[in-house]
Amino acid sequence: MRIQFAGLVASTALAASSLCAQSAPAWTPPDAATKQLALGIFRQLIEINTTDSIGSVSAASKAMQQRFLDAGFPAADIYLGGPNDRKENLVVRYRGSGAQPPILFIGHEDVVEARREDWSTDPFQFVRKDGYYYGRGTQDMKDADAILVTTFLRLHEEGFKPDRDLILALTADEEGGKSNGVDWLLKNHPDRVKAAFAFNPDGGGVELENGKAISADVDASEKLYADYQVMATSPGGHSSLPVPDNAIYHIADALQRLQSYTFPFELNSITRAYFEKLATLEPASTAADIRAMLGTPPDPAAIARLSRSPGWNSTMHTTCVATRLLAGHANNALPQMAEANVNCRILPGHSREEVRQDLIGIFNEPKVTVRYVDDGGGVHDTAPASKGLPPVALEPAVMQPLEKLVDVYWPGTPVVADMADGASDSVYTNAAGIPTYNWSAIELETNDVRAHGKDERLPETSFYKGVQFWYDYVKRISRGE
Ligand SMILES: [Zn+2]
Repeated sequence: MRIQFAGLVASTALAASSLCAQSAPAWTPPDAATKQLALGIFRQLIEINTTDSIGSVSAASKAMQQRFLDAGFPAADIYLGGPNDRKENLVVRYRGSGAQPPILFIGHEDVVEARREDWSTDPFQFVRKDGYYYGRGTQDMKDADAILVTTFLRLHEEGFKPDRDLILALTADEEGGKSNGVDWLLKNHPDRVKAAFAFNPDGGGVELENGKAISADVDASEKLYADYQVMATSPGGHSSLPVPDNAIYHIADALQRLQSYTFPFELNSITRAYFEKLATLEPASTAADIRAMLGTPPDPAAIARLSRSPGWNSTMHTTCVATRLLAGHANNALPQMAEANVNCRILPGHSREEVRQDLIGIFNEPKVTVRYVDDGGGVHDTAPASKGLPPVALEPAVMQPLEKLVDVYWPGTPVVADMADGASDSVYTNAAGIPTYNWSAIELETNDVRAHGKDERLPETSFYKGVQFWYDYVKRISRGE
């Protein structure tokens, strides 16, 4: 899932015009051969269906494996494997001098389902039209997969010797499915992916408004994802003889209480810094609210006003919302069962079990049970007690070259560390002790985010800018610059 643009542009955002004064050297677009290479990889990935239903991640992994073998990467440095023959992951190690510990790059190859009849073009055909590339995965995230593969091949072709190993893991089941590739690799082949830190281009990027870059977002923290099954049962009977004990009303009452409930306001180091930066970019009235919200004590009225933006609301609070309902069995019968799914996005520092207990308290309805639903759909009486991980520390070795290069590619654009509203595969690498930065170098209009949606597309310019950015950036971070 690419979760981008969590909330910076909730109101009219202003560019950091004061920073624009300084002139940075312009970036150079990639040469024709590089463009052709990148485009070929991008097209190939888009046209391999990698959906969970009928697609094959293995096919994409094998296609990329062949490219690395053809380029002369030693077979021993390439690993292909997974839990079954449709979900094989690819791990490629680009050998460096070993002076520094490795850097890991992760990208999921699977894509969300897409139906031909919903789209203007065939989602599994790579279509170039009006300055855009169309196809499922052009935003999430075969664009970045293609860019990373291109970067590795290009650096290798040039004979570039990094001061550390660079590891690329292209993986399965981020969008769904039962065999998350990052999780699988960490459990089954930890030595293949062990690194000092990681990048995940499944999030973060440059927000454009009318062609102008307004912020470069790096996600350094994520919320925890959780589903809960909320259920009530009642005796049922003939609908001509209603009784108060009615499962549908119990669930409806419970959900109404959830609707009017707001989880406590809470900031962490990343979201606080995010809002501090935002206060310098937003118009005066919003900036005043942000400062009042950041004050001690935080101003509840300012928090309430800012929370009208879904993105900011999600940054400040754990959120839980009803997403599905199922109840009753006949039009003329009293219900015997009613069930809702409640989906929560939990702030770092809290556990899924803690939120399950919160929900029980919010519903305040003894007839209603709250059970945890795991990723595979299994239902459990209690939820995991592990807490969402604290934000990643912003390492100067990562952030300084990033800020420098962002100023070359998008002059004057602030780099804003942010918390993703959803969870990505970084949840696994972070938990394994590999601090992970979600950063894509992909620029996108804030009103053109189509990940998971129909007619997913990426501007050609955005793709090639990303190609060149990662080439420059990987060179810088693997030489210690
Ligand atoms: Zn994604």
